Amino acid sequence: MLIINRYKCGYCGACVGACPATALELVETWLEVDESCVGCGICTKICPLGALELTEEGET
Ligand code: SF4
Ligand code: SF4
Repeated sequence: MLIINRYKCGYCGACVGACPATALELVETWLEVDESCVGCGICTKICPLGALELTEEGET
């Protein structure tokens, strides 16, 4: 489960291009993750602002 911290996100789009599952989409100033996320964690490492976090299954 990928958590997006919208207070930290600078909407640079780096994670969108890095996602192998194309699960991330930047719509103007709103970053979305969809169900195609496989939880690989690549985006959490690439984000320069630490806005993405991977958690265990379950709640958002
Ligand atoms: S890489 Fe980080 S700061 Fe950039 S759009 Fe993704 S979550 Fe936001
Ligand atoms: S955890 Fe992996 S699959 Fe999920 S949004 Fe991030 S880069 Fe994409």
